[in-house]
Amino acid sequence: MVSLAIVVGLTQLLGFLQRFPRYRLAPVERPKGLYHYRGQLHVHTRHSKDATGSIDEILRAAAQEKQDFVVVLDHNSLAAATREGYHGNVLLIVGAEASDRRGHIAALNLAAPSLGRPIERWKTPSVTAWLTHPMQPGRRFDLERFNPALVDGLEILNGGSIVKRAIEFPYTRLAAALYFYPLNPSYGATFLLSRPDETLALWDRWSATTRKTGLFGIDAHGRVSYRRSFALASTHLLLDAPLTHNAADDRRRVIDAIKKGRVYSAFDALAPGDGFWFVGEARNFARRQRVLMGDTLRENYQVVALRADAGLQVGDGDLRFHLFRDGVEVARRAGKRFRIVVSTRGCYRIEVELRVRGMLGGDRFLPWLFSNAICLAKPFSSLLR
Ligand SMILES: [Zn+2]
Ligand SMILES: [Zn+2]
Repeated sequence: MVSLAIVVGLTQLLGFLQRFPRYRLAPVERPKGLYHYRGQLHVHTRHSKDATGSIDEILRAAAQEKQDFVVVLDHNSLAAATREGYHGNVLLIVGAEASDRRGHIAALNLAAPSLGRPIERWKTPSVTAWLTHPMQPGRRFDLERFNPALVDGLEILNGGSIVKRAIEFPYTRLAAALYFYPLNPSYGATFLLSRPDETLALWDRWSATTRKTGLFGIDAHGRVSYRRSFALASTHLLLDAPLTHNAADDRRRVIDAIKKGRVYSAFDALAPGDGFWFVGEARNFARRQRVLMGDTLRENYQVVALRADAGLQVGDGDLRFHLFRDGVEVARRAGKRFRIVVSTRGCYRIEVELRVRGMLGGDRFLPWLFSNAICLAKPFSSLLR
């Protein structure tokens, strides 16, 4: 009797793990003229002293995980830059990560002589830079002395920080993650995820003066296979024109999207983030305008609606949209779509939480997706709704 119960229990466990993640992409209903790409920012090779992998391993993993681009950032090194360009369908972009007491910085379009110089000397108008893992447990960066003007954005999510945050007494999350990881890496990873409140607060605080892009950096060092790392989460781009497969043009456009904030981050291990979109639609009697993440609507319109869609086949109770204006939550809705008419100036961004079913019940809502902001420069007269 006992052995029968154990067999039934194990069968149920394996069945559950085989079905996870159970969310699938919905047929794409993206508005016309929006193009989606995804990739990985912040990957180290053995040119970083603390990493083990090679560019070829990274490119193979990126192709297997259907990534469109990979940004390699070695510590104070541009040694991998000779490999930049398309390798099959994967665009390789190479920058560098530098550090001092105040923090670590990723920079693209960096000139080699800048390596080894203070961070202030890196930032020229052509350089796109962002702060990496601003709040990593066990490391205290002197962010009070860091000038936000030196960066275009910051990592709101970092692979290393996610793991380190889960390593805390009484280690139950870590134990569950380690137990389930070999059976189903995606399910194992769910025990590591939590909303990075402090980092998001820093992002909102910095964005109050100048818009900053929020990014996901996997910070993969090759110790966990690159492929498994890339499957956890991606940086997704939403562009208003397709990439052309011309390496120089596409490189410029990917970097521009990072700089502007035409980007969202999703934990694809919970559910694929490829179908998500978020736009602003403005209209008055004479005309309409569409704005994307990273845009600021400057003219006056009678109606401004923000629309988003998760792009998933889910029940309405499985998703929660949270709308933030200048860092303050102003609306919360259950459902797979979101539409709201707004009239107050400010920068609007979305977070989406996803219900993850526990094996023995006990559903949890976990952070799934973080958009960048659409900004309204003026208050709007909302005559029509
Ligand atoms: Zn670092
Ligand atoms: Zn790093």
